[in-house]
Amino acid sequence: MKGIVTKSTGSWYTVRAEDGQYYDCRIKGKFRIKGIVSTNPIAVGDNVLFEKEQGQETAIITELFERDNYIIRKATNLSHQSHILAANLDLAMLVVTLAQPRTSLGFIDRFLVTTEAYQVPAILVFNKFDIYSVEEIEIMRELESLYTKLGYYCLEVSALRGHNMYQLASLLQNKISVFSGHSGVGKSTLINYLIPNIALKTSEISDFSAKGVHTTTFAEMFELPEGGFIIDTPGIKELGLVDIGEKEISRYFPEMLAKLPKCKFNNCQHINEPGCAVITAIEQGEIALSRYESYLGMVLGEDNRK
Ligand code: GDP
Ligand code: ZN
Repeated sequence: MKGIVTKSTGSWYTVRAEDGQYYDCRIKGKFRIKGIVSTNPIAVGDNVLFEKEQGQETAIITELFERDNYIIRKATNLSHQSHILAANLDLAMLVVTLAQPRTSLGFIDRFLVTTEAYQVPAILVFNKFDIYSVEEIEIMRELESLYTKLGYYCLEVSALRGHNMYQLASLLQNKISVFSGHSGVGKSTLINYLIPNIALKTSEISDFSAKGVHTTTFAEMFELPEGGFIIDTPGIKELGLVDIGEKEISRYFPEMLAKLPKCKFNNCQHINEPGCAVITAIEQGEIALSRYESYLGMVLGEDNRK
C-alpha cells in the first residue's frame, strides 16, 4: 500500500494510507539517501510503500519514494549527521507580527534564505492585525510591498478575530505546510483555528489545564479539514542556515541573484568588490537597504558561525 508518514517517534511511524486509514509502521532494511548522513531514515511527509504484517495490526515500511525537498538540522553541533525534520513541503508559512512581539527584518530574511535554499515556497503571514497602531499598519504595508515584489505572497490575518482566515485556509488546502515564527506570534492559535479539534497548547493556557492535551515531542503532522497537512515539529519554528556557506548566501536573495550577471566578477559577493551591480542597485533604491543589511548580518555576523 502507498501512504504518507504523518508521525515519527524514532522507531515507530504513523502512515496514512491513500484511503485515509492510519497504520503503525516499523522499518525493515536500509533507507539510504544519496548525499545525506541522517539520524533518521524516514521523516514526516515522506511517501512510502508499506505492507501489513501477517496476523497483526502493524505494518512494515518497505520503500521510500524520492523526496521533492526536505529540511534538516544538524543532529548536534559536533556531528556530521543531520536530522531530517520534514520532507515534501509545499509551503513554509512564516508568522510575523509587528507588535507583541515584533519580528525583526533580519529574522524574516534569514527564514527566506533558508526556504530558498530548501526550495520550499514561502508565505509571510502577518498576524495580530487587530492590535496594530496606525503606524504599525503603515510599516506592515511597506513590508508587504517589499516582500510581494520579491515574489513572496503576504497575507494579513488575525487569528483572534478570524480575519482573513478563509484565505489562509484556502492557501493551505491540499498542501503540506509548516508554520514557523518566534514564540508568541500566534502559531498555535492559528493552527487551532484551522484545525478545530487539534487543541494545540497556546501560551495563554496554563500548564495545568493543558495537561493531557497535545504537546509536541516528536515530528507530527495534522490533517486539515479541507485536505492537506500542517507539520508541527520541534526545531522547525526558527529555521537556521544549515549547511549554507557564506559565499552561497547571496544566491538565495532573489534580487541579488538577478543582479549578479551585471557584477564585474562572476563570483562577486557584493561586499567590497569594484563594479558591483548590487551596490549600484542599492544606491539607486532598487534593492532595499534592509535586505542588504540582513545579508551582511548573515555573511559577516556572529550568528552565521556553525
Ligand atoms: P505561538 O507561540 O506562536 O504558538 O503563539 P500562541 O498561539 O501561543 O499565541 C501567543 C499569544 O498571542 C496568545 O496569548 C494568543 O491569544 C495571542 N494571539 C494569537 N493570535 C492573535 C491575534 O490575531 N491577535 C491578538 N491580539 N492576539 C493573538
Ligand atoms: Zn556584486
